[in-house]
Amino acid sequence: MRTEPATGRAVTATLRLGGQRLAPTVPARIYLCGITPYDVTHLGHAATFVWADTVARVLRMAGTDTVVARNVTDVDDVLTRTAAQRGRAYDEFGLSQEYWFDQDMAALHVRPPEHAPHARHHVRHVIRLAGALLATGAAYERDGRVHFRGAAVPARAGLDRADALRLAAEFGDDPADERRDDPFDVVVWQASGPGEPAWPSPWGPGRPGWHAECAAMALATLGGVVDVLAGGSDLAFPHHAYQSAMVEAATGATPFARAAFRVGTVGLGGTKMAKSTGNLVLVADLLREVPGPVLRLMLLQRHWASDWDYRPDLLDDAARTLDRLYTAAGGPSGSSVAATAVQAALLDDLDVTTALAIAESEGAAAARQVIRTLALQ
Ligand code: ZN
Repeated sequence: MRTEPATGRAVTATLRLGGQRLAPTVPARIYLCGITPYDVTHLGHAATFVWADTVARVLRMAGTDTVVARNVTDVDDVLTRTAAQRGRAYDEFGLSQEYWFDQDMAALHVRPPEHAPHARHHVRHVIRLAGALLATGAAYERDGRVHFRGAAVPARAGLDRADALRLAAEFGDDPADERRDDPFDVVVWQASGPGEPAWPSPWGPGRPGWHAECAAMALATLGGVVDVLAGGSDLAFPHHAYQSAMVEAATGATPFARAAFRVGTVGLGGTKMAKSTGNLVLVADLLREVPGPVLRLMLLQRHWASDWDYRPDLLDDAARTLDRLYTAAGGPSGSSVAATAVQAALLDDLDVTTALAIAESEGAAAARQVIRTLALQ
């Protein structure tokens, strides 16, 4: 890290992410929306977490201390239902799923995050957030529920009302519920029924809403402003839009996220991979066929925002690329200029394709830089 002589303030390398140029604060703070631990990890999850890990690794490569918070959404109606169907307590069931997720992430060389907040440990922070939103008039209480006023949120996400309504319904925000002033108001706090997890609150026993959980966990672990808000591209609306709007309404600091990093979706046979459609390729299954670095490289061999379809031959292609990279790394040392060019490519929108091409043509120093930074060893 360089230091600005006049002020002594740390100066960090600029990272381009799509149309955004990010000169991060020190340390750089990344909030990454993590898993709801009710099922095994599929390739779509893996792509998101490997790419977000790559953002952190590229920032560290450039000398920027980086702190990652990756949450676990372990208070969630889907998790509660799935655990109940299997006759298990939601928290114990969630932990068992997390164990398998952590195994997959370790095999993919995803560095454990500095913070791994769990929603059930941050309920008091959601209650504090709800109190702050009520105090500023950004939320209102009704029948044991606290609703965030969200009428302006679709516009901030660049959506018209019809598209926003469809997405809100798809992601469980229940816009047809008439207990709210506006269809785009969402729950910060909701009353719990029988069998649902519940905590005491000033509004009666209940549990947090999904967007409020992430808003509260981000505030508790990283504070009111983050450098990067990361997750899968399907989180842009409603989740990231509401999470950001809630934090901003509570703190008055805008924007909550200085840059967004939303990773493209993975499909199979032309359809997005999802539990609901059942067209899943599981990370654990692929890891029985290929080493972790081959799978990791396959996930990185395209632009991070691109949607793509998985095919088995992509793994063969990644395995061949990795072989060539290892061969190049073992060759004559090559020039340090090439290693610097690799760094520049990665700082320019995480251009893995160009970094790999430089490594293959320029030899050992560049190849080692790629292997080290992309964690392909
Ligand atoms: Zn989230």
